Amino acid sequence: MARVYNFSAGPAVLPEEVLQEAADEMLDYRGSGQSVMEMSHRSKVYDTIIKEAEADLRELMNIPDNYKVLFLQGGASQQFAAVPMNLMKNRKAAYIITGQWAKKAWKEAQMYGEAVAVASSEDKTFSYIPDCSDLDIPEDADYVYICENNTIYGTKYKTLPNTKGHTLVGDVSSCFLSEPVDVSKYGIIYGGVQKNIGPAGVVIAIIREDLITEDVLPGTPTMLKYKTQADNDSLYNTPPCYGIYICGKVFKWIKKMGGLSAMKVHNEKKAKILYDFLDESKMFTGTVAKEDRSLMNVPFVTGDKELDAKFVEEAAKAGFVNLKGHRSVGGMRASIYNAMPVEGVEKLVEFMKNFEKENTK
Ligand SMILES: *Cc1c(COP(=O)(O)O)cnc(C)c1O
Repeated sequence: MARVYNFSAGPAVLPEEVLQEAADEMLDYRGSGQSVMEMSHRSKVYDTIIKEAEADLRELMNIPDNYKVLFLQGGASQQFAAVPMNLMKNRKAAYIITGQWAKKAWKEAQMYGEAVAVASSEDKTFSYIPDCSDLDIPEDADYVYICENNTIYGTKYKTLPNTKGHTLVGDVSSCFLSEPVDVSKYGIIYGGVQKNIGPAGVVIAIIREDLITEDVLPGTPTMLKYKTQADNDSLYNTPPCYGIYICGKVFKWIKKMGGLSAMKVHNEKKAKILYDFLDESKMFTGTVAKEDRSLMNVPFVTGDKELDAKFVEEAAKAGFVNLKGHRSVGGMRASIYNAMPVEGVEKLVEFMKNFEKENTK
């Protein structure tokens, strides 16, 4: 069996141990005689799976008791609508535009009320995080919205915006569980799990209880009301059972690895190897402001489109796959999520060094 080094931005690499364990349990989950895919979501055995997953996540992120953990469907993109539908009591919100995902969320919110762009980094192709220490946030804004790690552009907030007392909503899809987080600073933290936690099809939303009310915008579908999901412990309808089961295994893997502070050390180590090389290379350069660099998504270019294409092709042949940059930016992007081993990044850099040598006249 030959496993590649997978640098995909999502769906992305998962810990091999987790995949192996899931394979071992595929036909007969712990003596139940069934696969987790086949069992009732109302069964005792599944109840244990989802409850344990929640408990482990609460432990990992140190989630305060006044927050609900919801396992939802619809992708992160569905939350772009769910957030305003549940939170826009004054029909007004502030959005910080740091990339395509933030922009999509902002556009979606405009269908429900006044979504004010209070800062943006679009002037420089989203290559930095704007100064958010003193933003002009409307008094009556229901929340301030950020995309915390910009998957496509490779930037991350190093300090959260000064929301001036407003509720903070963060899309953390591509930095979920990559480092410790203070949940109490947010009203909602949510993310699609297919970047750093599990298979596509699950969104985890961690929501402060006072934000979960019946007072939602008229026409909000039952399924999109946080109250519906919270009152039913994410089991209002059939949840993405198998996906949640894999997430639960990844939570246990992270716990075994030492939790979120250990993940941070692991991720910083990998990012440093790659960024240090980009800083010294004469061929490859990183594309974003150094102080805003993401630990998870590392975009880089050679400055020559043909050479970029050649690199991506040769890298894939050598077992480093999915290095092509997002279609909107071009170049390359290495996503180095939790499950990417240090060795994968070391070997990639070695490959890049050789490529540079061979392609420099
Ligand atoms: C991938 C991604 C999304 C979209 O996720 P879907 O689950 O495909 O809807 C949203 N936000 C961020 C930050 C992402 O990386």
